[in-house]
Amino acid sequence: MVYQALYRAWRPQTFREVVGQDHIVRTLENMLNQGRIYHAFLFCGPRGTGKTTLAKILAKALNCQSGTRPTATPCLDCASCISIKEGSNLDVLEIDGASNRGIDEIRDLRESIKFAPNQGRFKVYIIDEVHMLTMEAFNALLKTLEEPPQHVVFIFATTEVQKLPATILSRVQRFDFRRLSHSVITDRLRQVANASTIEIEEAALSLIAQAANGGLRDALAMLDQTYSYAGAHLITPADVQEVVGLVPYAEYASLWRFLVTGNMRLALERLREILDGGKETQQ
Ligand SMILES: [Zn+2]
Repeated sequence: MVYQALYRAWRPQTFREVVGQDHIVRTLENMLNQGRIYHAFLFCGPRGTGKTTLAKILAKALNCQSGTRPTATPCLDCASCISIKEGSNLDVLEIDGASNRGIDEIRDLRESIKFAPNQGRFKVYIIDEVHMLTMEAFNALLKTLEEPPQHVVFIFATTEVQKLPATILSRVQRFDFRRLSHSVITDRLRQVANASTIEIEEAALSLIAQAANGGLRDALAMLDQTYSYAGAHLITPADVQEVVGLVPYAEYASLWRFLVTGNMRLALERLREILDGGKETQQ
């Protein structure tokens, strides 16, 4: 059997499973419960904080067949929920903005929008990395956003919201994703490790969370790598340092000491040692 990466295996499937973005989850749930469906959502924020995960949950919520209208609690069992999870639903299109950034792709998209959904209530277009679109493509998209068909919902995702034209921003419902806190990430890592019978020291979990810099996807990927490296042994902070390339605090402390005492020669030597070790210095 092909091994499924932890971040995929543990990807939240419902709003309740999403961690660290409570303000967004709550707003989306209320919106669905009140039957207020916007035509364009913008999910912006740092990488690995749950933007495309929430986009797919929202798509399920809009098209779940368990009831007669959109729901904040998609059933996960109907044909629609299952095919959206698998990425094979004909009404939910995931588009990578980086590789479909031109005017022709957006024209094609505008053509396809005219047709009614196959089975769902809505055609949902998830455009990831939307900031990569060309200005021409944005202008074409804008025409659709100005007069969207009733059956279409756009969910745009981006890590660089400042690159979007103001004309687009003024026509979307914007949601700002936050970096996840250290404790939210360690809690989630601990939960995944326990359920996957991965033995890991608490200090090692903490180091991974620190290196992940607020992104849960990166944190789970690091746990995966460290687990592969350590094998069946208990994972220690040293394992994490070896795999993730974190500079131990003691090395930083000595670098700092050389700097504040004006010993530039030793400071540079220490810095070179750290960099030669290929360690991640952006902490
Ligand atoms: Zn369903």
